[in-house]
Amino acid sequence: MSEQFHKKKQYGQNFLTNPAIPQRIVKESGIDETCGVLEIGPGLGALTLQLAPVAKKIVAVEIDHELIDPLTEIFAPYPNISLVENDIMKVDLEALLSERFPDMPVCVCANLPYYITTPILMKLLEGKHGFRSITVMVQKEVAERLCSKSGEDGYGAITASIGYYGKVKRLFTVTAGNFSPKPKVDSAVIRIDLYEKPIFHVENEELLFEVIKAAFLQRRKTLSNALAAYFPAFTKEDIGDILVSLGLRADIRGEMLSTQQFALVANEIEKRK
Ligand code: SAM
Repeated sequence: MSEQFHKKKQYGQNFLTNPAIPQRIVKESGIDETCGVLEIGPGLGALTLQLAPVAKKIVAVEIDHELIDPLTEIFAPYPNISLVENDIMKVDLEALLSERFPDMPVCVCANLPYYITTPILMKLLEGKHGFRSITVMVQKEVAERLCSKSGEDGYGAITASIGYYGKVKRLFTVTAGNFSPKPKVDSAVIRIDLYEKPIFHVENEELLFEVIKAAFLQRRKTLSNALAAYFPAFTKEDIGDILVSLGLRADIRGEMLSTQQFALVANEIEKRK
């Protein structure tokens, strides 16, 4: 089948060919026999088949209709795998999780289609589905961005936002030669261990994410300029006062703030608005 199947670029189909890679992904994901697993994009099952002997139950969501028949055949010997044909962005995750995994912790494990990595991650996180962890393969430079700390080059709005939901760890690099077709860039596997509840207090979550977004909209500006431009009710001096009251410099740039510091700024804006 794999020879007859024409991989579709528009679906980000770069399939793993070296079985050692999915084995290692599963090992380092921390998934065990108590866990349900949501897999996004099983492809031809390279990762799913490694998950099957380890996890309690797997639900694999695949968008490509052409893969459904072959996957049904490949998964037939494994009663703990079920297949859902759908676009992950259209799936009602709350309904799917309560229906398929009513009584077990759920982890996400996937070799993500690269064209849609960030929207998928944000959907998984923002929905607050109570996932225990999210272990995914992404493009190497995206992994670097997601794992960077405040003040580092790759640190951006997505990094600061993810810091609210959990702790990100870079697991290992996977070179392009381990896929068919071979992608132009290397990949890396990351794992996000989600916090069961937020580790710092946030008055207004929506505002926190707005503050983060505003801070990175104009990277070269100081944070007080960027926030004053975004929140017209505040002058640059008002924001500078807030920053100083939090022990930060009035002319600090947004990229220097940790997620927790963004939360403190957002809480102060909420209080003064
Ligand atoms: N897991 C397989 C592997 O590691 O060999 C395939 C990974 S491949 C990088 C990405 C997979 O995601 C493909 O099977 C593709 O068809 C599927 N896919 C792409 N967009 C999707 C979407 N929006 N929802 C669900 N699956 C999607």
